[in-house]
Amino acid sequence: MSVERSICPDIYHPAIARDGLLTRLRIPGGVLNESQCLTIASLLESLSLEYIQVTNRANLQLRSLAKDLDRELLIKLAGCGLAANNSAVDGIRNIMISPTAGIDSQESIDVRPLADAWHKYLTEHPELGVLSSKFSVGFDGGGSVGIVDRPNDITLLAVGSRQFSLYLAMSERGDPPLPVDVRLDSNECVPMLAAIAQSYRRGSEVLGGDARRTRLRDVIRHYGLIGFGELVQREFSTSRRFVFKNPDLERFCTENGDVAQTQPRLSERHLGVHQQCQSDYYYLGVVLPLGRWSVAQVQGVGNIAARYGSGKIRLTPWQNLIIPDVKAIDLARVQGLINDLSLVTTANHPSSLLRACAGATGCQFGATDTQRDAIALSEYLAANFTLDRPLNIHFSGCDKSCAQHDRADITLWGDERTSSYRLAIGGITDRSEPEPSVLAPSAVPIAIGNLIAAYHHQRHPQESFESFTTRQSPVQLHQILHAV
Ligand code: SF4
Repeated sequence: MSVERSICPDIYHPAIARDGLLTRLRIPGGVLNESQCLTIASLLESLSLEYIQVTNRANLQLRSLAKDLDRELLIKLAGCGLAANNSAVDGIRNIMISPTAGIDSQESIDVRPLADAWHKYLTEHPELGVLSSKFSVGFDGGGSVGIVDRPNDITLLAVGSRQFSLYLAMSERGDPPLPVDVRLDSNECVPMLAAIAQSYRRGSEVLGGDARRTRLRDVIRHYGLIGFGELVQREFSTSRRFVFKNPDLERFCTENGDVAQTQPRLSERHLGVHQQCQSDYYYLGVVLPLGRWSVAQVQGVGNIAARYGSGKIRLTPWQNLIIPDVKAIDLARVQGLINDLSLVTTANHPSSLLRACAGATGCQFGATDTQRDAIALSEYLAANFTLDRPLNIHFSGCDKSCAQHDRADITLWGDERTSSYRLAIGGITDRSEPEPSVLAPSAVPIAIGNLIAAYHHQRHPQESFESFTTRQSPVQLHQILHAV
């Protein structure tokens, strides 16, 4: 096996992190079955790891490895579909779908067949293995749990029952892709993706340097959107003509009915119990705190899905999971079994919308131990508060905000100079304030607890967390946070 080290690893090419080797299992579409769960549980046991972590691309990540996975393990993973048979393409299998595809009563198109067809294309085109391991394609069926706002390189968003709108990543790192004013019939989608991927590969060669570090947006910027579209047109295998344009977003949305779908989706929308489009069937969105999924929980969830569902589990880009296809008569039993695994399904739990990057233990840029501090806060809040609405709290070891690019209710940024956290609350997001609130890691639970208590007791009826915190002056916020 190659010991080449990558900045964005795959199972055949682990990366070096502060806490050991880091590797990822690409899970096309985020869909797992029971037998894959059992394989993952046995993998964790053989590596003496407590948990595997769901990533914000709905893949799985292993940290703190002492050495590369041996050949037998790799063969076993490839045998059950958890690794590509061809190591050249393992790194480019980032395929994200709406996690409720095919079961969402509001979706326009079930995107699973398209995602499967794209996966097949990738596995048959090893020349694309030179692309960045971050290359990712999203398929959004236009339902209630969308992924068009996730930062994929390419997204196809269903508009109506037969067509997709094409989105490409052109903005800054972490920003969602933007529409390019091209509508595609379903049968044109994979040819278009293939033409874009091949144009991206050729453009990377023209740019020179390390192709694995060249992102699609770099190639688009080099050629310009229209010029890149002309490259894609030459690769496109049908006779249809198109022009990539970045239209006035507001006008485009209004005229094309994409308004609702370009708004940020609530990341908690999939949590809890929801009726499927198939009558008498439900799905359960289950919280995994910081995406951590222990050996017992992997086995347990796999068993639940096999016994009470269809045997399938769906990972989400919000680092949680969904158990689909549960009959109404079994819901109470399944809820109980989930709780027996020390897991919850409620979006109001403090862990539900908790995000943290690798932080100081895993990343050279981390100023604080974000994972430890996030778990400490979650445990403190769970022991002392009952939240009556979801609260999104984001810990970031530095300003790069790898774990969450969009704004949270509360953000804590690790500060290299003080090894403490700079705090942004609700609508107050200006990190360049002359004197931002600074909290030592040990002070975070009580300070955030004080803020939540003040919100519960002092808010106006129906007032949001953002509205409450925005109407506090900096002095009032300081007093609330540091009350004794
Ligand atoms: S946000 Fe900073 S500390 Fe956290 S993983 Fe990214 S680069 Fe590392």
